[in-house]
Order: sequence, then C-alpha cells, then structure tokens
Amino acid sequence: MKNPTRIWLIMLISIVISLLLFVWLLLLSGKVWDTGYDLNTLNAVSQEMLNAIEQQNTYEKNEIQPILDQFHIRHPALRFEWISSDGSTLYDTYGETHKYSFEQLADRFINMPNNLWGEDKPITLAYSANKNGQPYYLLLSLSSDAMKQGQLYFFVRTFKALYSWVLPLLLSFFVPYFLSLWLFSSVNRRIGKLNQALNQVNIRSDAIVLEDKSKDEIGQLTRHYNSMAQRIRRQADEIEQFENGRKLLLSNLSHDLRTPLTMILGYAETIHAGLYSDENELRTSSKVILQRSRYMDKLLDQLLDIARLDGDTLEIHLAPHNLSEIMRKIAADYMLFLDGQSFSVEVDIPDEDVQAVIDASLIERAVRNLMDNAIRYGNEGHFLGIGLVEEGDVVCIIVKDKGRGIAPEDHKFIFERFYRVGGGRKGEGLGIGLSIVKEIVESHQGHIQLISTPHVETLFLIRLPKNK
Ligand code: ADP
Repeated sequence: MKNPTRIWLIMLISIVISLLLFVWLLLLSGKVWDTGYDLNTLNAVSQEMLNAIEQQNTYEKNEIQPILDQFHIRHPALRFEWISSDGSTLYDTYGETHKYSFEQLADRFINMPNNLWGEDKPITLAYSANKNGQPYYLLLSLSSDAMKQGQLYFFVRTFKALYSWVLPLLLSFFVPYFLSLWLFSSVNRRIGKLNQALNQVNIRSDAIVLEDKSKDEIGQLTRHYNSMAQRIRRQADEIEQFENGRKLLLSNLSHDLRTPLTMILGYAETIHAGLYSDENELRTSSKVILQRSRYMDKLLDQLLDIARLDGDTLEIHLAPHNLSEIMRKIAADYMLFLDGQSFSVEVDIPDEDVQAVIDASLIERAVRNLMDNAIRYGNEGHFLGIGLVEEGDVVCIIVKDKGRGIAPEDHKFIFERFYRVGGGRKGEGLGIGLSIVKEIVESHQGHIQLISTPHVETLFLIRLPKNK
C-alpha cells in the first residue's frame, strides 16, 4: 500500500475510533456520575402529580396532601408545596408554612428554566392549576446536588444545542488530523523526489541536483545525496580518464614495441643469413639491434614501474646518503655518454658532502629520467645542465636544457600519466617518465617544479627534505 493511502486510512480509522471512544466515555461517565433529576424528569413528575390532583373534587389541603406525600415518598429529594391563590401555603411536604408575595411567585415562573443552577440556592419550579376559577400553584424544589451534573444530559435537549458543541468538537478533532496529514504528505513528497533522484543515479549521466534547504533529517539526507551524486560523477570521470589512459597505453605500447622489434628482426635475419657485405655493416646492424633492444628494455622497465605504482607497491628504503656523490656519478655517466656529441654539459654540484635521507636508487632513477628527457626532447639546445643546491633543511636537484621546452598550457598536465605534448611523436616514450618522477619525489615528501621558456631554458627542480 502506498504511503498517502496508508495515511488517509490511518487518519480515517483514528477519527472513527476517537469519536466512538469520546461518545462511549461520555455516556459511561454520564451513567456513573450523572445520577439525579434533569428538567425533563422534573416536568414529568410534576405533570403526573397535576394529573392526579385534577382528579380531586376540591383542591383543598385534605384532598391534596395525600397526593403530595405519596410523591414525596417516591421522590424524597423533592419538596412539594401547594399554594393557594393568595400565596399562602396549603400544604408543604417539609411541614412549613409560608406566605408568598405575588412577585415571589411571578419570579419563580420567569426564572424557571434559566435559574436552574444557583450555587447554594435550591432549584425551584412552579406550575399553576385552576379549580372553579380559583388559581392554585404547585411549587417543586430540590437542592442543586439532586440534579444531574453532566453537561450532555442536561444541555443537549435540542438539535441546535447539539450542533453548538458538536461542530467545535469535530473541528478540534479534525484540525490536528489535517495538520498531520499535511505534514506527512509534504514529507512523503520530499522522500518521493529523493527516491526518484536516487533511481536515476547513473555513472553515465549527470545526477539530478535536489534543492532542499530545510534543516530536518530529510534536508540532511538530500544534501548527503547531492554530495554523493557529485562524488559518483567525479569518480566516474576519473575512471573514464583512467580507462582512456589504459587504452592509449595499449595502443602506444603495441606501436612502440612493434617498430623497434621489426627493425631488430630485420637486422638479426640479415646477420643470421650472412647477408652483410663487410665487418662494418655487421657492426652497424648489431649497433641498431643493441639500440632498439635498449629502447624496448626501457619501455618494459617503465611498464613494470606503472604496474608497481598501480599496486601501491612503490617500496621505499630510506637511508642517509651523500647526494653530491650520487649526483657526481650520474653527471659523469652522462658526460661519458655525450662525449663526442655536440652537447655542452654544465655540472654544478658542491664538492662537500650533502647528506640526505633518501632511497638512493629511486632518486637516481628520477634524475636519470629527467636527464634522458633533456637529451631526448631538448636536444635542439645542445645543452644539458645538472645541479645540486642545499637550502637549509631542503636539497634541490636541478636538471635543465635549452631545447624546445614545454608550452605553459601543458604545464599542468605534464606530470600526469600517459600525457605527451602534442599527443606524442614517433619514437618518443609512453608519457610515463615524468609521472614516475613525481611519484618518487612525493614518496620522499618532496616537490617537483617545472620552469620552461622554450628555446631559452627548461628546468626541472626537485626539492627534497633532508630528514624525513
Ligand atoms: P616519456 O616517458 O614518454 O618520455 P614523460 O612523462 O617523460 O614521457 O614526458 C612527457 C612529455 O613531456 C613528453 O612526451 C615530452 O613531450 C615532454 N617533455 C618531457 N621532458 C621534456 C623536456 N626536457 N623538453 C621538452 N619536452 C619535454
């Protein structure tokens, strides 16, 4: 059953139950506490008595007294007085005699129905009878305690009276119900919207953003939903980006591996079949095979690095090391490698020891990566610079070249995995190197920065804290 139907049903049932309960309790309390006379019974008693009196030949005391006594025995709470036309008592069931003035008698008639509830005053009713043109009066009185106390029993004598209290009563019953119905239906509407929005959450399309500024639980739930939907969208974007990267990697990899492999196979077959003309050609062929194999080896190394980083298994073994010594060794390697090539190499490493707590092999890999890039992508500048500077608790490693550089718009993506300037050129890498460098630097709680002015200077600056 849907919530609105359930609410209507509950409301209806509770209205019926509460009304029944109200009436039943009213009647019950009436029965328990409302014993006594009401106006109707008093009138009926008087009427019965007047009928009996009417049967008598005269209305004198000796004729009337037995009737009054008989009724007094049946109704001991009631006092009956038989009054002659001059206002004097002919008989009083209380045995008293009075002489009522005309005003006193007239008052009884005038106040009859209105003056029923005087605090301590007895309630009196007056009736008149006539015999042979002579008026007589029957006075009936009783204490207010002997009357019924219940409102229902006493006041509800006409439909008008009934409406006068039933309408307010019904209204007071229904208003809370309608208010709670309104509350429930607004809650229901808001939950419905939330439900619909949740149903449509999907990683492919934008989620519905719900507006609910109220501070209650549903408002909080709506805000949680909004932030959850945004998170899902963000994560879906990241997954999509990652997937695209993987696809790109696979297609680049198959291309980048196939090209050198084809060359290796071609040259190896030539050598194997003895189809080279002289020793020189053999040397050249084997040099190409060696170069291409090294390139493939490097690619596979990078792939291994990626796999390690993906599995969060970049193991880092920190120990104190002399960084200037490590940097001097790297510089010497590259000077040897570039010897005879039109490259000028600038080395700016202090002679004294620069101690830092690092993983030496990881830092060496990062620096070599930057140096390889400077040679590969910055070769137009024919310059390679390597430096080390100590700045208080921080050491700075600098690798620079004067080649084509990196345009400002590429700076924010350059350390992202698989990113290659201009989508990459033939024979260039997979766009992994700089992302690995960044991971290594950050695993040392360091920071990497790029400053590049194309064809003037491109500088990579690694800042590492000396002690972790
Ligand atoms: P790869 O592993 O393919 O070399 P990197 O992450 O090392 O990729 O570099 C990403 C891109 O950054 C390269 O494709 C290249 O275009 C650019 N790049 C990196 N270093 C330099 C540099 N010193 N000068 C110019 N461009 C560079």
